[in-house]
Parts: sequence; C-alpha cells; structure tokens
Amino acid sequence: MLFLNFAELCSRLEKISGRLDTIALLSETICSLSEEDLPHFCRLILGKPFPEWSGQKLGVGPNLLYEAVAYVTGKKRDEIIDRLSRVGDAGAAVEDLLSQKSQTSFFTVELSLSDIMAALLEISVTEGGRSQKEKVRVIQRLLSNASPLEGHYITAILLEDFRIGIGDGNLREAIARAFSVNPDLVEYANQVRNDMGEVALLAKQGETALQSVRLVPFHPVRMMLARQGTISGVLESGNPVAVEYKYDGARFQFHKQNGRCRMYSRRLEEVTAAMPDVVTLLNDALPDDIIVDGEVIAVRDGRPLPFQTVLRRFRRKHNVAEAADAITMLPNLFDILYLDGRMLIDLPFHIRREKLCKVAGNFVTPQLVSDNESEIEAYYHAALDAGHEGVMLKLQDSRYTPGVRGKDWVKIKPEADTLDLVVTGAEWGEGKRAHVFGSFLLSVRDEEKLIPISRVATGFSDEQLAWLHDTLQDDILRKDGKMVYFEPRLVFEVGYSEIQKSPNYEGGYALRFPRFIELREDKDIKEANTTEDVTDRYIQTHKVQNES
Ligand code: ATP
Repeated sequence: MLFLNFAELCSRLEKISGRLDTIALLSETICSLSEEDLPHFCRLILGKPFPEWSGQKLGVGPNLLYEAVAYVTGKKRDEIIDRLSRVGDAGAAVEDLLSQKSQTSFFTVELSLSDIMAALLEISVTEGGRSQKEKVRVIQRLLSNASPLEGHYITAILLEDFRIGIGDGNLREAIARAFSVNPDLVEYANQVRNDMGEVALLAKQGETALQSVRLVPFHPVRMMLARQGTISGVLESGNPVAVEYKYDGARFQFHKQNGRCRMYSRRLEEVTAAMPDVVTLLNDALPDDIIVDGEVIAVRDGRPLPFQTVLRRFRRKHNVAEAADAITMLPNLFDILYLDGRMLIDLPFHIRREKLCKVAGNFVTPQLVSDNESEIEAYYHAALDAGHEGVMLKLQDSRYTPGVRGKDWVKIKPEADTLDLVVTGAEWGEGKRAHVFGSFLLSVRDEEKLIPISRVATGFSDEQLAWLHDTLQDDILRKDGKMVYFEPRLVFEVGYSEIQKSPNYEGGYALRFPRFIELREDKDIKEANTTEDVTDRYIQTHKVQNES
C-alpha cells in the first residue's frame, strides 16, 4: 500500500462521523491488503507503529520535528512554531508548510507503508549521544519525500498524536467483517497477544487460528483493571466473593522462562534492571515457565510508603543497588496467567488462585472469601488501619480479562473526589514563579479528542513546578501569549470540591477548587477520565443533593 493512499484514507475517515460507515470503509480496505501490509496498516491506523509491550519507542518530541521541518521547508524555526500556533494542530501545520514547499520541489520518491515502518524502526533503534541527530536525519528524509497530506499523518505518528477516531473497537469490528470471523474472537486474541497487527493476520487465517492464540513469557499482556463499587452491590448475586487488600504500590507482571526473568510495569515497560531486589526474590521463589501478576509496595518499619516511592524506583537507571538497600520492596502476588506451557487466563479465579498458592507460597496476597457484608466491612477497615488503600472484591468464577475494567474486580476505597486529567497546556507564572509554569490546563478524554475542563494552580511544591517546567519543555507544541500547549503525555490526579456546568470550557463542565494531588506516571493518557465519567459524576452528585 502506498502511504499516500493510507493518508487519503485517514483524511476520509476523519470526516466520517458514523461508526458503521467507519467500520465499512476500514473493512473494505483491510480486505484489499497484502499479508505484508496488513499488520503495518492495523498498527498505524491506531497510531501505534509498535506493540506497546515491544519496548520500541520513537522518542520524537516537537523540538526534533521542528528541526526537521525547518530543514525540509527552508523556513525558520520561529516561523514553524508561529504557523503551528495559528493552525493549532501539528499535523495540519506541517501539511500547510509542505504545501508551500511542494510547488518548488520536483523529485519525490513514492513512500510505501513498509518504507514508513522501516523508517520508524530506524528512529526507534537509534541510541547514544548522536541519536537525536540521527532521528532528525531520518525524519528529514521522510518529509522530503512526502506530499503535504503524507506529511500531516507522518507528523501525527511521530508525535504519537494520531487521533483520527479509530479505536481498538472499530478496528476489531472491521477485521471481523473483512475476514468473516466473530468479533469476540478478535477481541479475545487481542487480549492475549496485545497487537492488532498480529491479530489481523490470525483473523485472515480464520477462527481456529484466533481461538488457538497463547500467552508466552516475555510478551506481556495488559493488566486486568477494576471498577469502583460497593460491598453490598457485589454481594447482590448472593455468592461469596474473594476479598484482598488493595495495596497502594505499583502494578507489575513477572515472567520467567529458562531461568531468565523479566518484570514489566502497568504500562508494560520493562523494569527488570531497576528492581533487582524484587526480581531476585521472585526468581528464587517461583518455578520456571510462569507469568504472575501483582503489586509491589515499598515498606518502612512494616508500614507501606506512598506509591510514588515504587514508581521512582521503576524509573531508576543509576545507583540501583544503593536504592535497593535503602528501602524494602515487597511483591504481593494476586494472580497467575501462565504456568508450565499452559495459559491459565480462561480458568475461574479460584482455580488460578489455588495454582498460585501452590507455587508462590509466601508472596501470595492474603484473601478472605465471604458473602457476609459485615465481615467484609471489617476486613476493609483492617486494610485501611494497616495503611493500605482499601480492598478489592473479585468474583470467584471470573476469568482474567487483560486490559478490561469490568465488573469482575471491584475496588472499595474511601470516597475521594479526584479525576485523572491530561495536561494539555500551561500558563507562565507570575512574581517568584515567573520562570516556571504557574497553572496547567487539564483535559478529559472524549473518544479520540481531549477537551479542556479545568486549570490547576494549587497543590504544587516549588520543586514540582521546577521539574514540570523542565520535563515539559520537549513537549511544547505551540505558544500563544502567556500560554503554551503541549503534546499530551502527562496525567495529573486532581482533587476538586464540585463539578459545575460551565460555558467557559467546550465540554460544558468545570471543576471547582481544583488542586494538584500527584503526577500519575503509571498511567497513560488513554487511562485518563472521560467526559462520560465527568457527566456521570455530575448527575450522581446532583441526584444525591436533590434527594437530600
Ligand atoms: P486508583 O486510581 O484507584 O489507584 P487505578 O486506576 O490505578 O486505581 P484500578 O483499576 O482502579 O487502577 O485499581 C486496580 C489497581 O489496584 C491495580 O492496577 C493494582 O495496581 C492495584 N491493586 C492493589 N492491590 C490489588 C489487588 N489485591 N488486586 C488487584 N489489584 C490491586
């Protein structure tokens, strides 16, 4: 497939609003693709050239892109930033700039989907001191051969800001339709393999291929997640549930095969080197050929420390041994996904738990199985007293559903009015904060878009503001007076006193008294709260207020 055809398709898809039309167009295209193009297409259309577990990252920020665009268009960096401020979207701005240049350029090589993938791979593997220069060189080469429309989508892919409105759900339906297979099987295979490219190839072979997908060590799957709920709500079914402490640490998956071990974070980044103490503990305790799921907590004098302590360790590259000596990290295992060549995710939870207890002994999270509300309440209060976050209620017969926030796991913790919001902009501070950002513009997810809902200026320490200022420099997309706008990357957890209707923000809601609580480095922007969550909370609180 020519990348130009891909870009034209993206442009058409952006203009289609109906889900059915989107799926129809996608499935028609998927039918026509070669075996080579099919996986590339499915990954690129989601804006993710590499599976998230692969460890491959582009690492291209706006600054690198500006440098390459300046070279290709012969324009000054400031002109580029200015254009971006006016157009508002990096892809559209690059399209605009390239269309001025294309009138004078005569030689272009036709880019195929494979060419783009090869270039992205080249960008992702460049390392070391000269890596930035190397990356710029590859981007220059790509953009020199790109038409304006191609430049638009190359930019969006490079900045990982590819939002044409195709989610996993639409693609799943399109693949199912293209190859006449059951969409549930496509979903199942994607939960296990976590790569729509590979899943599309399996779907092309048929339902048997989709059904026979297997987990393998060192190919992590997304973590199963929980919903907020109530004890009485979960007990409505009348069946006993498993109750575990909800630890306030960091989620991990541990894989071991042929004596080799790897540990992955919730975002599926490998953290083995940063966690030698935990890896050694688990390596010694667990048999070979296994995948387990758990939460690692930092403890001092028997009490858990805030979860950022663990996240800081996950990020650590230097002096790891000293850090390991200073703070004890304890893994708590609560699930097993694979053992001895067998995938276990389809077994009921209580059977998986039996298997986990047999192989992992001391590291298994204690559990209460009960259908008695007061007994569970008491367990919940014991968890809080011991410094944990609350409890998790898990249905005994539930399967492990990677990446799903379903009804099978329910978290019970003290009510806290907080939202996880994406940092999309900031305003320079004043007075003693004039050299850093003083307030941040925060957005909620709305399908593939991000919609501002609040600004937050309180709750930060001076160190945090200085760190945010430095770390966000590379994410600046455009400037407008005292405002700067970022490529979305960071998620803030923000507290508030109330959600109000407001004409000031596009989504129609605003937060009253927002305050910064913490940076959620463990969360991807795709895990931020949505407009739907905000509307639900608004309706919920107003219902309660009206009732009382
Ligand atoms: P929160 O923002 O409330 O911390 P979250 O958005 O990080 O939650 P949830 O899906 O709401 O994630 O809650 C599940 C998380 O709780 C898991 O990802 C895991 O990190 C943590 N956790 C702690 N103890 C357990 C446990 N016993 N079983 C499962 N998850 C646990």
